[in-house]
Amino acid sequence: MPREEAYAFAMKYLLLLLIACCSSLPSGAFPLVHIRLQVDPVTHSFTCRYRFTLPVSDTTSVVNLHLNRAFTLHRVRTPRAVQGHVTTARYLSDTVHHVQVRYASHPQRPRELELTYSGTMGKGQFNDQVAIFSGHSNWLPFRPYQEYEPVMYELDVLVPAAYQVRSTVPAERPRSGHWVFHGTTPAIEPTALIAQQFYQMMSSPAAPVSVIKTGVALAQPDTAMLHQADAIVAFYNRTIGREDPLTQFTIFLPGTNYEGYGLRANAAVITYTDFNVTQPADLLILAHEISHKWWAYGSFHDENGWLSEAFATYSSLLYIQSRGDEAGYKAELARLAETAAGAPPIWGFNRYAYPFPMYRRVIYNKGTGILAALHGRVGTELFLTILAHTAAQKTSTTLGFLATVEQVAGPEIQTWLRSELQR
Ligand SMILES: [Zn+2]
Repeated sequence: MPREEAYAFAMKYLLLLLIACCSSLPSGAFPLVHIRLQVDPVTHSFTCRYRFTLPVSDTTSVVNLHLNRAFTLHRVRTPRAVQGHVTTARYLSDTVHHVQVRYASHPQRPRELELTYSGTMGKGQFNDQVAIFSGHSNWLPFRPYQEYEPVMYELDVLVPAAYQVRSTVPAERPRSGHWVFHGTTPAIEPTALIAQQFYQMMSSPAAPVSVIKTGVALAQPDTAMLHQADAIVAFYNRTIGREDPLTQFTIFLPGTNYEGYGLRANAAVITYTDFNVTQPADLLILAHEISHKWWAYGSFHDENGWLSEAFATYSSLLYIQSRGDEAGYKAELARLAETAAGAPPIWGFNRYAYPFPMYRRVIYNKGTGILAALHGRVGTELFLTILAHTAAQKTSTTLGFLATVEQVAGPEIQTWLRSELQR
């Protein structure tokens, strides 16, 4: 990039670093990522230039990046590297481009790696109205097993002038055809939704919720969802999130009918066109996804995934219980317990040794039952203190959670919980 741009970018990085150090983000410097995404919404094709820069303090000698094999990798630039190669590798159930770069042991300057690639968007990521580049679009490179490592990103999106772009943060200086966003988020979660028209509404409580929709205009179910989302955010801010409350939340409704998921940047993507929070199952999904603001730190590759999924599921149950739906709360717990019967322990669970449904049975369903049992054992007051501490500390391991349980509820409860997790 030109020298002025490089200087401006470096200054912004310094500023972001200061912001990161002063806020509640995990301390330490994160990789810096610059993404330049050019999209043709008509053909659903795109070109992406992705630059990954480690902080100067990071002296990792080998950097690996994986990229979706469906894309064409045009160029790999590795200034200051002593060696680099590109191969194809197996990763989980996929095949990926594997870029490996080796650096000398005494770097004076940051280690940098740039990939340029192009491709067509994958299944479920577009329709005639919208293109979705987000956490489940598999469009960005990442370090193996570190899809959720925090990165400080700048995302530049280039689209035809008739199109607009939305993200989890407002665009900086939006101008025709060029949209710039920046923030700190997991490596695979920088987000750009691209459409000719967006329909938006925002609530006005202390922690406002925004709904951003494409395809058809906002309708009554969307308003109902906005009100429920407000109530859910307010409930969580009084309970699980009281030590680290939400100040705003965004719900994207792209209408691609494919999936629903939470993003760590205070947002969720819900793609179902028939989504309706008057249906109990949909209300649970909404509450689950919003709670991922707090439950997103247990790795989805191993047993610690229960710290994300079981906690989000049980939080959604706490919400419906708080509305007086004790019957719904009990019925859902009973349903989950049935699917968890005979499943292996959470402790040491290796998801890759089983077909996928076992992951849900153990990490979501069995874990939810264990949280309900802990709730019953210690009572609501202590239980919410445990959850609020766990959330505020961004606890990412079962041992970390057990330490919080012991600190709040004592060693006997901790010992009991450990045996439940090993059962
Ligand atoms: Zn979830």
